[in-house]
Amino acid sequence: MLSDIEIANAATLRPIREVAEQTLGIPEESLVPYGHYKAKVDLGYLASLADRPTGRLVLVTALSPTPPGEGKTTTTVGLTDALHGLGHRTIACLREPSMGPVFGMKGGAAGGGWSQVVPMTDINLHFTGDFAAIAAANNLLAALIDNHIHHGNALGIDVRSITWKRVLDMNDRALRQVNVALGGHANGYPREDGFDIVVASELMAIFCLTESWADLKKRIGDIVVGYTPAMVPVTARELGAEGAMSALLRDALAPNLVQTLEGAPAFVHGGPFANIAHGCSSVMATRAGLRLADIVVTEAGFGADLGAEKFVDIRCRKSGMRPDVAVVVATVRALKYHGGVALADLGTEDVAAVEAGMSNLRRHLANIRDVYGIPAVVAVNRFPTDTDAEVGKVVELVAAEGVRAVPATHFADGGAGAQDLARGVLATLDEESSLEFSFTYPDEHSLTEKVEAIATRLYGAGQVTWDAKARRRLQRIESDGYGGLPVCVAKTQYSFSTDPASLGAPSGHELHVREVRLSAGAGFVVVVCGDMMTMPGLPKEPSAGRIDLLEDGTILGLS
Ligand code: ADP
Ligand code: MG
Repeated sequence: MLSDIEIANAATLRPIREVAEQTLGIPEESLVPYGHYKAKVDLGYLASLADRPTGRLVLVTALSPTPPGEGKTTTTVGLTDALHGLGHRTIACLREPSMGPVFGMKGGAAGGGWSQVVPMTDINLHFTGDFAAIAAANNLLAALIDNHIHHGNALGIDVRSITWKRVLDMNDRALRQVNVALGGHANGYPREDGFDIVVASELMAIFCLTESWADLKKRIGDIVVGYTPAMVPVTARELGAEGAMSALLRDALAPNLVQTLEGAPAFVHGGPFANIAHGCSSVMATRAGLRLADIVVTEAGFGADLGAEKFVDIRCRKSGMRPDVAVVVATVRALKYHGGVALADLGTEDVAAVEAGMSNLRRHLANIRDVYGIPAVVAVNRFPTDTDAEVGKVVELVAAEGVRAVPATHFADGGAGAQDLARGVLATLDEESSLEFSFTYPDEHSLTEKVEAIATRLYGAGQVTWDAKARRRLQRIESDGYGGLPVCVAKTQYSFSTDPASLGAPSGHELHVREVRLSAGAGFVVVVCGDMMTMPGLPKEPSAGRIDLLEDGTILGLS
């Protein structure tokens, strides 16, 4: 079997203007090409499509992730290729990979096997520079804050209360906590600061929830950067930062068009974390996709308790979009892992463990259908070690829940391997659904009630407990007038609980809130449960050590 990058490097790509014109009818003058195989689509052109009927939205999510990986991105691409191959005008909407994981442990994020978006090396490395633009705008605000304090601090910012950090798109644990403005008078007021990775920044979340340049500027203005000693919030608007920050992001806000290995179109745009932020690609791209295509296939990060929940409660609430169907990616290996099988033994047939691990998938399906009110289809993403008996068991158990489960081999076979899945998705889209789309909680509930709704309705928790400091912060945020915002729970993706080792479908556990943070520009309140990393480190043997550039310009070692 060829590696992902061998497949991607050997692919013959079509010029992006041809893909744009032939698959989506985008005229050449509405493209802003970045070389021959990547282009941004002009925002003026996209705005001119506002009256077009909108296509249908397929949300790809998964059971609780496990260390071996489930394949949501790969399935998003495979399903897009299959629908495209069946003659449906379809586009994938994916997140842009962060270079942190590319050089760290996880590797790239352009799909895998024969279901990838290309040019894979470009997408994984720099791409069209969106993340650099976001970092520049973020760091401009950081510079303006310290400069404001240096020149007399007219706003009276308490330097100990500044929440706005500097960012870069790299895993670099050495920068988690730093002292800035050392070296004397001319360099400002020394204070403790820190760096986050770009994808964990509030600005990335803003970028991905924004609907227009005007909306971008408003949201940036709303960012709370810190507080006065009397705890009055200080915003980016008061620092006069929103105009220049928006200017830096003007071009980045246009979605990036690329192609799959099979020539289907894909927007790859924006990429927020799925814990501290909402974890899906930009609203700009999805909105554009829904006007340009009949079907948009998009991915939400992590499992359906995190990514899909935020898709529904944050993204859909703000944008008015509604998924027409959820494709829940499950693997035999993940089910066995949830069923108690050790990582090293996942390659051995164990139908009973598949059955035991089904508790996890069952709860996700119930959440998606009974809480969010979205029809579901399960995609069984087949791995080489899966046996027919195991796959058959998944199909049987999912069918018992009244849900279609369709095995798919797109990793090995490309779009042809996901045609049955595509037909299952189409059939579900065509059925009259008895389900009614719903949020997990209404806007007017208190922030505490919102967290409790998520914990008890989705996670199976018995109660929510709070650090005293987190409780006080929450009350402060409410009294400052932010109580109407949705909440964004940051917790481990591996479990419904806050204990990553608690697999399957734990019940009656306690959700403990350690910290609360306001993302006023993005428009949500982050509720931190457990440890949360906003600047990851590199592992002992980083992927960077395997990446290489050959004499002829070929890049190797990305996965
Ligand atoms: P996610 O989006 O859920 O994080 P990805 O689609 O990025 O998952 O896949 C995670 C990893 O698993 C990738 O390296 C991908 O190439 C690999 N992978 C996905 N599906 C399969 C499969 N069916 N067989 C083998 N490897 C796969
Ligand atoms: Mg992914």
